[in-house]
Amino acid sequence: MQLRIPGPTPCPPQALQAMGRQMINHRGGEFVRILNSTTEKLKQVFQTKGDVFLLTASGTGGMEAAIVNTLSPGDKVLSISNGAFGERFADIAEGFGAEVIRLNFEWGKPVDLDAVEGALKVDGDIKAVLATHNETSTGKTNRLGDISAVVKKFDNLLLVDAISSLGCINLPTDDWHCDIVVTGSQKGWMVPPGLAMVSVSEKAWRAHAQAKMPRYYWDFSKAKDFLQKGQTPWTPAISVFYALNTTLDLMLNEGLNNIFARHARIAQIAQNGIKSLGFSLFPEEDYASDTVTAVNATDKIDVPKLIQVLREEHDVVIAGGQRKLAGKIFRIGHLGSVEDDDIKLVLEALNKALPSAYRHSERSEESQS
Ligand SMILES: *Cc1c(COP(=O)(O)O)cnc(C)c1O
Repeated sequence: MQLRIPGPTPCPPQALQAMGRQMINHRGGEFVRILNSTTEKLKQVFQTKGDVFLLTASGTGGMEAAIVNTLSPGDKVLSISNGAFGERFADIAEGFGAEVIRLNFEWGKPVDLDAVEGALKVDGDIKAVLATHNETSTGKTNRLGDISAVVKKFDNLLLVDAISSLGCINLPTDDWHCDIVVTGSQKGWMVPPGLAMVSVSEKAWRAHAQAKMPRYYWDFSKAKDFLQKGQTPWTPAISVFYALNTTLDLMLNEGLNNIFARHARIAQIAQNGIKSLGFSLFPEEDYASDTVTAVNATDKIDVPKLIQVLREEHDVVIAGGQRKLAGKIFRIGHLGSVEDDDIKLVLEALNKALPSAYRHSERSEESQS
């Protein structure tokens, strides 16, 4: 089967084999070695000398951890959003009592840097900025380096959802002054869901020392204390650790630049293929993501039907649109364990499945003519 949704992604055999191992004591020496080794390798992929923690959670848990560890109720937060996941980040901050200023851009459209700068100028007491690196809901990558350059003029904290980009698209955490970067194991990391990984900068630690939002399970101080002993505060998803420690070796052997180039090349194949089938991309083309391709379905295509035919007749699984994009777009995930041929196969299947996915009205018109 071709599982081509933007997470969970397929796991290579080495990861599945590693997962089959017997349980170990998470307070014993063997887990110390696995945790330390995984953390060191993750730092290389995050491109950071700061702290990196592994939290047993899906990606959203990591987003919540970023918020509650750095902010207090009543703090002003600027949310830069152009999709469903940007809105989720803002909702979490609001849920914990931050005063969220929502700078929303149309879904799929670029972030206007002048508007970001304007918003930061108007509200001198903004504490943190929330940004999404790769907006999975619209297949669009935001120019995080440029966003960071604006945010850092005002010396704000920058909290980044890089759940579907880190390990696939270049994100130099330290060079771009990202204070917290969040990712999740089931995206580009080629392992099952179960771990959120977060980096924490010096500046984020200073904010943490003042932050009063309620937290317990997510507390970075606890994570840091336990990491010094080679442990996590709570029982970790041990099997996912086995797998991640293995796939990180695969990733570092391939090399970060080669991984980024592979994702860029495959995205190009996906985009060209989609266009040659007569479709257009949902996001502006210059911003189209290297990890997920979002396609305008047009009125002619019944998206649930297309997804069903691909799954039942071609063994290919793709995603529809989320929230207000439901029925309007479909999305092909190409992150983590993916090669050129996988996406070529998806495009061929799409070509074959399309005739069964045209809306009935269209079909009856066609048969009449
Ligand atoms: C998948 C995803 C999330 C949510 O992650 P969960 O693991 O489902 O909690 C958040 N943000 C982005 C950009 C994502 O792609």
